Amino acid sequence: MIAPDLTTAIDELRELVSRSEVIVPFTGAGISTECGIPDFRSPGGIWTKMRPIDFSDFVASQEARDESWRRRFAMEESFGGARPGRGHRALASLYRAGKSPGVVTQNIDNLHQASGIAPEHVVELHGNTTYATCLDCATRYELPWVKQFFEAAGRAPSCPSCNGHIKTATVSFGQAMPETAMRRAEELTRSADLFVAIGSSLVVWPAAGFPLMAKRNGAGLVIVNREPTDFDDIADLVVRHDIGAVLEPFIAMPN
Ligand SMILES: [Zn+2]
Repeated sequence: MIAPDLTTAIDELRELVSRSEVIVPFTGAGISTECGIPDFRSPGGIWTKMRPIDFSDFVASQEARDESWRRRFAMEESFGGARPGRGHRALASLYRAGKSPGVVTQNIDNLHQASGIAPEHVVELHGNTTYATCLDCATRYELPWVKQFFEAAGRAPSCPSCNGHIKTATVSFGQAMPETAMRRAEELTRSADLFVAIGSSLVVWPAAGFPLMAKRNGAGLVIVNREPTDFDDIADLVVRHDIGAVLEPFIAMPN
């Protein structure tokens, strides 16, 4: 059913949540917009104005790496200052209550971890933009260090230990999907008796595969998204209201 109003949406969701034992949320950009994180792919989003830097270009050219880092530093105000929103806090509450083993996300903003879900229980399909790694040896580097080097040298740094390229820990356009994250996302999805897609248009692969996988596996399916999705027809509950308002009642008050 498509919830006719916010109250019905919350009531129906509460009912589904209470009779489910393994709730697996799948989140996209919509859960983070109230936190000031831009939705890159939405109409008017950054990627409709600025062509993304392809992974092959990043690897091939120092200029592309410099430009990529310049763009990242320009977005630090959005990412660096962002705090978890009502949706993140609600999911963290379900997690702490033992109702949810973890979350699968398309987001790169680290806000699920910031809301209290252990990093090993956040499966990031598109990586994480709040730190960097060496593409060759996988050593982790923090952004302030990269920025300091960039400002002093006028170019993006190479890895001090192996001379490889240092890139935000995100999955770029043209870069292979992370196998471990994909496998864990599938495992979580198959373990679910309630799969809740939140703030994702469910269009971009591999996002599109998970709701169907959950449904075929016998799980209930809830879709909370501003816009209609291709999976609304097979969902048990479709909610097209503001994500923060829908999930706020599920935030457990700390004792
Ligand atoms: Zn390295």
